[in-house]
Amino acid sequence: MRNTDLLVWAELELNCQLAANRTCATCGKVADIGYHITCDHCGRPVCGVCAVQLDGCAFCPTCPRELPF
Ligand SMILES: [Zn+2]
Ligand SMILES: [Zn+2]
Repeated sequence: MRNTDLLVWAELELNCQLAANRTCATCGKVADIGYHITCDHCGRPVCGVCAVQLDGCAFCPTCPRELPF
């Protein structure tokens, strides 16, 4: 394996992991960079459309109901 092949593989692998980190846990849509939030309760990634904002924190739609608000 040449060095360039390794670099290409590493870049593909990184892109896959980034895409997984940006996939909204609620709607399954891959959010664009800068347009996704990590739930402050469960840590799952949520896109800006699905996120629920509460007291300056962001949650995925299923979490606020589990919290003792
Ligand atoms: Zn979403
Ligand atoms: Zn959550």
